[in-house]
Amino acid sequence: MTLAVKTHSRTELVDITGEVQAAVREAGIREGLCMIYVPHTTAAVTINENADPTVKDDILKILNKVIPWDDGYRHLEGNSAAHIKSTLVGASELVAVSGGKLQLGTWQGIFFCEFDGPRRRKVHLRFV
Ligand code: ZN
Repeated sequence: MTLAVKTHSRTELVDITGEVQAAVREAGIREGLCMIYVPHTTAAVTINENADPTVKDDILKILNKVIPWDDGYRHLEGNSAAHIKSTLVGASELVAVSGGKLQLGTWQGIFFCEFDGPRRRKVHLRFV
């Protein structure tokens, strides 16, 4: 199945944990794996703390500092920073499912990472 994600800023981390868990429930998966795949070259997916929202702010702050939007890049489309962040963060995550629940740690959430928004994006989910 595929989730639709609408982003609102150039860089943004969107918590999609609830949507992914709902998809696992809907698919009737009790034991197995959930693959979360982002089919975009300027976006990514990551797992990190979703208890304190300042953590995602800090992650974005440092990514934006380390990889500035303008830095004499060669790519003519002008969004090389987004491509680089996408590669560093990665296009997929794999989470174990047990008892019908994602086996995330207490403080973990799944974040869609927008690096060239705002846009309408997709996240593919596959179950094993
Ligand atoms: Zn580009």
